[in-house]
Formats: sequence, structure tokens, C-alpha cells
Amino acid sequence: MGSNPINVLRDYLGLRREHWLGREQIESIQQRRYEAITDTARLLPYYRRRFESCGDSPSKDLEMGGFPILPKDDVRMSPNDFINPSIPRKKLFEMQTSGSTGTPLGVVCDQQTFEHRHAIGLLLAQDFRRSPRDLLVEISRKSDSFAPFAVPGLFRKKHLSIFLEESELFRSVRRLGPDSLGWYPSMAQTLARINDSLGRPVRLKSVFCGGEALSARVRASIEESFSCRVYEQYASVEFSALAWECPEEHRLHVNDSSFLIEVIDGRGKPIKSGTGDLAVTCFFNRAMPLVRYMIGDRAKWGRECSCGRGTRVLDSISGRSDDFIVLPSGKHRSAFAFNLLYYGEKIEGIWKYQIVQEREDLLVFRYVPEGRGLSGAGCADLRKRISKACLYENVKLEFEAADSIPREKSGKLRKIISKPAQRLRTGDAAE
Ligand SMILES: [Zn+2]
Repeated sequence: MGSNPINVLRDYLGLRREHWLGREQIESIQQRRYEAITDTARLLPYYRRRFESCGDSPSKDLEMGGFPILPKDDVRMSPNDFINPSIPRKKLFEMQTSGSTGTPLGVVCDQQTFEHRHAIGLLLAQDFRRSPRDLLVEISRKSDSFAPFAVPGLFRKKHLSIFLEESELFRSVRRLGPDSLGWYPSMAQTLARINDSLGRPVRLKSVFCGGEALSARVRASIEESFSCRVYEQYASVEFSALAWECPEEHRLHVNDSSFLIEVIDGRGKPIKSGTGDLAVTCFFNRAMPLVRYMIGDRAKWGRECSCGRGTRVLDSISGRSDDFIVLPSGKHRSAFAFNLLYYGEKIEGIWKYQIVQEREDLLVFRYVPEGRGLSGAGCADLRKRISKACLYENVKLEFEAADSIPREKSGKLRKIISKPAQRLRTGDAAE
């Protein structure tokens, strides 16, 4: 899907201006955009059915949310019911989420959506003090062709696989000589340790972290090792960057221009302070309008930021608390190495899953079967993928079919629970 740089720039300039407006102005923009996207959402088969069955029409009132909360499973079970019927199918394309909570989801976009995502990427780069000529190396599971601006030579990005052995990964980073690195915090300490052992360590301008919770200790160890600043972002494949760190404080500004982000309490009502589940309404994807979509993470509202931006602030996002796996060799593997239901690689017969690491050398694959369940070939395929994610170390794998995957006390569905990692954390806390 090509994007027009003029449209990207237009959206970027709009975003940049709006993030510095006063609270009231931002809220009135949000109200307008919320009404527009819910008008579009009413065309969807899902909402037509839902509103017909309750016999009343949804309120447009932003305070009350108006539309009901949208569970992720509703979209996953019948994604076609969420596609805007007024846009010709040939103008749409599909992206798939990483299934970071153990449940994958297809998201449909059109060109405008794609351009706005690029614009968000540009604003994020600016807030992270990334120069347009800087080379960013991303360490992730899959190469992502997404670059914030489709002009050659600008916002260059290279990809390194999370499946590379750590010392090889480090050599590749060194060879590419990036200005910035993008990675998951659980990998950072290992790479920082390798870096610290060198006579002439690698220096970077910045490190961008996301996907997992970033502790103050991990942040400090990366910053010290690479002599750079660490910036944190909160993004999802469904929506792109939802919130990112203020250049002046280690807290996350919500992208209020592109989304209505709500924190929902246990009774399903939005709250203005405290902790709850995140619901996201995307203003710019008219191809697949998702309204009050429960993204599966939890967050805590924070006090206003002193930087002058009018956008709201989150103190923390607790959803990304997936553990990492601790291998028998002591190496840490990010939960992202274990995205087993990824687009194009889906294993038939699994609806949801969770990996529980009992010991360094024992993983239990707990799953909720779908259709005819997991076949022998599916099992063999899973063994192969998990073994690769464990860097082929000697780790035993047991399967366990279940009726459901229990949620944590926090309400979060976790894909990876590692008892060795929890023990390590307890040890850290006792230090
Ligand atoms: Zn700020």
C-alpha cells in the first residue's frame, strides 16, 4: 500500500499542532471525531444487529461513551462484520496483530488509515528527537516494512531477527552502526552486558523500547551502557502508537488527536483517575471503525504534565507485563519470540494459549482448542517453533488443553508466565 507524502505531512502537521492545544480545545476535537467515527460504525453489520436487538439508538455523548464496550473476541469471531461496507473491497488491505495476549486479530485498513499511521510515526520520531537521517535498527520477530515517511534516505530502518543468538545479534548491530535501536526491554540487559565487556563499547543516540514494561533499573542499565537516552512507547498493531514518553518526563502522553482512550473501571464505566482496562476508539480508520475496543491492557491515569502539551498522561501501562522466558543457559527470551499465532503462521486448532514456564527446562503449553482441536502435525509444528524461540536449548514441552485461560488478579490475560523470571524479579526487589 503506497502512501502520499503530501497527505502524511498534512496529517503530521495537524497532529503536531493539536497536541499543544488546551484541554478544552482537544476535547471538542475529540467529540467531533468521535461522532464522525460512530456515525460510520453504525453502518457496520455488527452494530446494526446489536442496536436493532436492543431497540434503542446509541447516544453520541462522549462522557458516557455512548457505544457499548467492544470485547476483542467479538471482533475476532466475526471480523467481516466490522468492515465498512461503503468502501470497495479492492481499496482495503489487511494487517494482523501479533496476538500478544495469545489471541490474534485481523485489522483492515485503507490508504488514508495508512497515511495517518505514517503521520503518527513522524510525530513520535520528533518527540523522540530522532533526526530524519538517522538509521534505526529494530530487533523484533518479523521485519516490518512500516517506515514513517516513504521518501528514500529519510527515516531509514533495518531489521534484525529476535531469533539470532545474542552475541551474533550484537555483532550485527555493531556492523550496521545504527544511531538508534528499537527493541524489547527484556533483551536489553543481555546486550548491555555484552556491550559493557568491550574495550570500545557501542554508543547510540537513543534506544526506543516498547512491547513490555520498562523498569527503572533496566532503563538505567541501557542508558549507562550505550550512553544514550531511552524512550518508551506504547503501540499496537491494530492502532499504531497510542501513547509515548514525554521528552521531559518518563511518563506517556496519550495521542488524543488520533484516538479516544478511556480507562474503564470494574463496572464498565470510564474513570478520570486511577487504574482500569484500556478501551480505544480509533478516529482515523474508517475502513474498520473500532469503537471502545478493549485492547487487553490496563493503565493508570497520571497528573497533568508540565511540558505544555494538552494531551493526557498515563503514569503506567500494566498490561505489558508478560514475563520473559529464562533459558537453562541463563539467557532471557522476550515473549515476542513466542508469538505463535502470528499472521500467515497460524496453527489450526488453537483459539487461545498461554505458556507457563515451571522451571528453566520445562514449559507447559496451555491452550483452548478451536474446531477439531490441535492435530499431531500442529503439535509437531508448535514444538519446532518453541524450540527455535528457545534457541534450541534443552527445554521440555508439555501440552495441556483447557476450557479457558484464567486472567491474572490484575485482570490481564498473560501469554507467558515464567516462574523462574518471577523468582529473579523477587531477588531483584530484595537487592
Ligand atoms: Zn509532557
